[in-house]
Amino acid sequence: MIIAGYNPNSCVDYPGNIASVIFLPNCPLRCVYCHNKPMLDGEYEAIPYEEVLERIKKNKLFLDGVVITGGEPTLTPIEDLKKLISDIKSLNLLVKIDTCGSSPKVLEQLLPLVDYVAMDIKAPLDKYSMITPATDKLMENISKSIELVKQAKDYEFRTTLDPKLTVDDIETIAKMIEGAKAYYIQQFVATDFYYPKAYSSDYLKWCVETANKYVKTASRGG
Ligand code: SF4
Repeated sequence: MIIAGYNPNSCVDYPGNIASVIFLPNCPLRCVYCHNKPMLDGEYEAIPYEEVLERIKKNKLFLDGVVITGGEPTLTPIEDLKKLISDIKSLNLLVKIDTCGSSPKVLEQLLPLVDYVAMDIKAPLDKYSMITPATDKLMENISKSIELVKQAKDYEFRTTLDPKLTVDDIETIAKMIEGAKAYYIQQFVATDFYYPKAYSSDYLKWCVETANKYVKTASRGG
């Protein structure tokens, strides 16, 4: 199994928990604002699986859980993912998985095994192509994943407020996930190759207030 990165300690990747973060490579999307491009383009130094496990074991007393993120974790072979989750669980740690929802078939198998899932929604379905190359199949998969995630035991949806999105787009997304337990809207952060001006905090607040009409809790994401 290829591990592209490892952060031993994070307070912001698993709500309410201190977690290690494991980065798995590759992603079927190519979001304009992606901050993990090296991980998508093979420009990383792989870390041996046993080394990561050993470091988690050593840190275990200071951790609540482990976040499996990417890239897109569901592109890693399912048997490898199951083993990783099982190894983490054997340490009595929680497991959270992050996904863009591109592989509902894999997600369906993972959801009973993990404690928390976070799914990114990039835009209203008919506007995905503003953020990432999108196909009908991808949109179909994302719709299926939304329904699966809503049935998970604990979950969140989240959207990066790219300046191409408007408050009306956020309202459309909130309607897509109507009734969802948690929806985070996070501020867009420019990269070296994509740097439109981010919306003001007031605009983000307006987006959060608008989304709150449709979901149980909408908040500003970190
Ligand atoms: S889904 Fe995430 S990892 Fe994949 S391209 Fe978009 S921002 Fe990057």
